[in-house]
Amino acid sequence: MPIICSKCRSANAEVQIPYAKLNLCPCCFTDFYKARVRRTVEEFKMFREDDAVGVAVSGGKDSAALLQVLRLAYPSLELKALHINLGVPEYSTHCQQKVEKLANMLNVELHVFSLPEELGMGIGDFEKTPFKGKLCSACGTIKRRIFEKLAIKAHVRVLATGHNLEDVAGVMFNNFLYGRWEQFVRLKPVLPPLAKGMASKVKPLIKCPENENMLYCLYNDIPFREIDCPYADEIGVRKRAKILEFLSRDNPYFRHQLLSRFLEIMPIVEGITQKPELSQCKVCGFPSLSEVCAFCRRIAMVKEAIGKI
Ligand code: SF4
Ligand code: ZN
Repeated sequence: MPIICSKCRSANAEVQIPYAKLNLCPCCFTDFYKARVRRTVEEFKMFREDDAVGVAVSGGKDSAALLQVLRLAYPSLELKALHINLGVPEYSTHCQQKVEKLANMLNVELHVFSLPEELGMGIGDFEKTPFKGKLCSACGTIKRRIFEKLAIKAHVRVLATGHNLEDVAGVMFNNFLYGRWEQFVRLKPVLPPLAKGMASKVKPLIKCPENENMLYCLYNDIPFREIDCPYADEIGVRKRAKILEFLSRDNPYFRHQLLSRFLEIMPIVEGITQKPELSQCKVCGFPSLSEVCAFCRRIAMVKEAIGKI
């Protein structure tokens, strides 16, 4: 016997939302997803209806769902898509094609920064540096700074990223366990601009589980990448996912509860965490913890390794 959608009571349900005790048809699931993103944006005052928002789109399902749902939920938003081509053979071309297709579909302006074209390197060149074996860490630093630059270039006040519930709750949990309070605080749903003229950072999908982002893309014909980055730190990600899966086994609310508790204690943690003193990087001029920022140090490291300095 097919299960009937708990909302419209007419179509067959295809999606089970255990933590909300709902069985939904694709149409009602899309409404449910969109309403939750709107609620999240409003709860954390992420932006105004007519703001200028840049979405960091990687080509993956999370950021693709984010760009589409923001277009749908906020038609008067000045929305821009920001993409970094990391210069990973095959993978980066594939991702950029998906992003271009999506931006076209939604009629959203796209800004691309190409690592090979603009810096003469690819993320794989970190294999020739002490970052060999931990490319994702170097890549994270590079992407963070380039998205900040793209946000300035695209004149957006807010930079939205596709971090999902598992990303945030999982990493917060890890930082909590190891007492890494500075990193814990950095996972807040809204981060103010680092300096004047820079964008604030927001995470509108913070309450959306990963599988729902995937379903949202599939039900709404949203293009997203079908191949994985060859440098992905699968072991680390799977280890984190496994812990969360184990803890969620008998409690479908677990991930949401974990996130809620972490958000509750966030002001206390912020109060006891020393705010880092930022100065200006003497190479790029961006806010930095040291004389030369982590981004510039890493780029110099690669250029030296590939003989471009
Ligand atoms: Fe960068 Fe790692 Fe993601 Fe590849 S998997 S794009 S190296 S962060
Ligand atoms: Zn710098």
